Amino acid sequence: MLRFRSLASGSSGNATLVEAFDGLHRTRVLIDCGLGARQLAARLTAAGLSPSQLDAIFITHEHGDHVGCALLIAARFGVPLCASAGTFAALRCAEPPPTWHIARDGQTLAIGGLQLRPFTVPHDA
Ligand SMILES: [Zn+2]
Repeated sequence: MLRFRSLASGSSGNATLVEAFDGLHRTRVLIDCGLGARQLAARLTAAGLSPSQLDAIFITHEHGDHVGCALLIAARFGVPLCASAGTFAALRCAEPPPTWHIARDGQTLAIGGLQLRPFTVPHDA
């Protein structure tokens, strides 16, 4: 089963929760984290989760409405981040910790029961 829940969408913040359940294990990945920490926690709580239950945060690009509190959540709750090398560099994180994931165009990333296949789209980032 695969479920999606939009926590925020728009120029003031973007965050989408993706949850996979294979009958035994749940995997939860947040696609973008463009909110403040308090607002993100409130919206995750409304979805029945806490930030510590996220298996990863995938940052699509470095604009603030997509990054938000991602670095804070990663540091505070030990949630691994996924992003392109360019996005990590823009976030002044050119050498991400080994538990984080560098996304490459067309290459599948396995996170728990989810497989993510990022691809490049034109954008000013
Ligand atoms: Zn953007």
